[in-house]
Amino acid sequence: LLLEQQLEDANGDDGGPRDDRTSIIRVTDLRKSFGETDVLKGISMDIARGEVVVILGPSGSGKSTLLRCLNRLERPDSGQILFESQDITAHKVELNRVRERMGMVFQSFNLFPHLDSLHNVMLAQMKVCKRTKREAERVALCQLARVGLKDRADYFPDELSGGQQQRVAIARALAMDPHVMLFDEATSALDPELVRDVLDVMRELAQAGMTMVVVTHEMSFARDVADRVIFMEDGVVVEQGTPEQIFEHPSSDRTRAFIGAVS
Ligand code: ADP
Ligand code: MG
Repeated sequence: LLLEQQLEDANGDDGGPRDDRTSIIRVTDLRKSFGETDVLKGISMDIARGEVVVILGPSGSGKSTLLRCLNRLERPDSGQILFESQDITAHKVELNRVRERMGMVFQSFNLFPHLDSLHNVMLAQMKVCKRTKREAERVALCQLARVGLKDRADYFPDELSGGQQQRVAIARALAMDPHVMLFDEATSALDPELVRDVLDVMRELAQAGMTMVVVTHEMSFARDVADRVIFMEDGVVVEQGTPEQIFEHPSSDRTRAFIGAVS
């Protein structure tokens, strides 16, 4: 609870409108093509510190490409991404320094099969953050406890359920002390009964004040947790607003059709 308070203070959350917050990510006219296919056709968005933004949209609309551009797994063709006021589309930018501050969780957990949970969470801390083994272990145990896996530190990935593996992947990202967390369909590969535990961890993270950009098809998560919902289709932002605006009063027919089809 103390941590939540500290995060809130740091975020300047006085209950005022979100617009008053400083933006942590500012995307301007982002474009990306693969060969002849224009995938992102001029995306602009602002994400405030502490904000939870859920991105919805049909398959193929460019959601993953957008997230991958945000942490520079893809190089955009044009446009600008300011992350904590730094232009991360610039050529000279140090990508490791960017990715330390921007954690990403994918649909596939990508854990190292030959390492137990503890060492999966320790590895990048030592390699990227140059932490000592002792410090990395301390942080790893703390983050594993945070995702409810304190007693699974010495389990290997194939001894864990999909939901547990995904929570290890979340702990691994959190161990880097990211300023933003990106989630790309983090629960889509999980059996339905395992989805809830992962969503609960994401919910707690949101409540603790983490800035999050979440691509998901979990409509109840979007409704309950999002500060803002962005609906994307065909490489453009069609509409954005509060969950209430998007779910109850969508202004675009395309949004209405999508919401109607999935909920
Ligand atoms: P979404 O996550 O919304 O389903 P994606 O960003 O994965 O959408 O993909 C959008 C479009 O870009 C799709 O048509 C996909 O085939 C294409 N695409 C994505 N990545 C690549 C790539 N590396 N090479 C070629 N085409 C790609
Ligand atoms: Mg995708």
